[in-house]
Amino acid sequence: MAIPKIIIAIDGYSSCGKSTVAKEVAARLGYNYIDSGAMYRAITLYFLRNNVDIKDGDEILQALKDIHLSFEYNDATHQSEIHLNDENVEHQIREMIVAEKVSEVAAIKEVRGFATAQQKRLGKKKGIVMDGRDIGTTVFPDAELKIFMTADPEVRVKRRFEELYATNPSITLDEVMHNLQLRDYIDSSREESPLRQASDAIVLDNSSLSKEEQLEKVLGWVKERASQLAES
Ligand code: C5P
Repeated sequence: MAIPKIIIAIDGYSSCGKSTVAKEVAARLGYNYIDSGAMYRAITLYFLRNNVDIKDGDEILQALKDIHLSFEYNDATHQSEIHLNDENVEHQIREMIVAEKVSEVAAIKEVRGFATAQQKRLGKKKGIVMDGRDIGTTVFPDAELKIFMTADPEVRVKRRFEELYATNPSITLDEVMHNLQLRDYIDSSREESPLRQASDAIVLDNSSLSKEEQLEKVLGWVKERASQLAES
């Protein structure tokens, strides 16, 4: 059956493999994939580069005025990559220095307002898969399909460690574990749109699922939603 253009929101803790599933699902459906975490990371990178004092509301507002974020498709990597003021920063935003600061920056009300306004615009035409922490609760509370991903903490730490180790062999397992725990704590306990499972989200625990198994499950849910929508 033809799949109508819907919004698929994928939320969950750090390093649950959200982006891997989201990218694959988007590719299969011919949808756009938007990594909302990349937006918070790019804002953080700008703040770090420009020594923005995150305790100073005026400095934050001024900095946000100077930030332009966009996603551009890269023909070489076949991915849509984030640009900060027209500079491709897809690699820089994955560095540990950004990971260590991003949750603090993402907890700032003005920063969230700035990012969510843009995310909502990106979803206007539907046909989108967006992953993050508050996509099903705040950005797209009416998304047709919401998925909340989780995985055992050890599995998540190991996955992120292997990813980071490839470009930074001096990284330790402890460092990665500490960063994931801290980010999950800040993301779940902040006042502004904390990380929560939406009441109508389907839980996907992928601790012992292969990429293919996860993809099959999600595509199955997409089909189910599509046929429910066709009937209603
Ligand atoms: O998804 P990723 O791990 O790249 O996200 C980096 C950080 O951005 C998260 O730890 C969280 O602090 C923030 N974030 C958020 N809301 C989102 C997506 C990411 O607060 N929708």
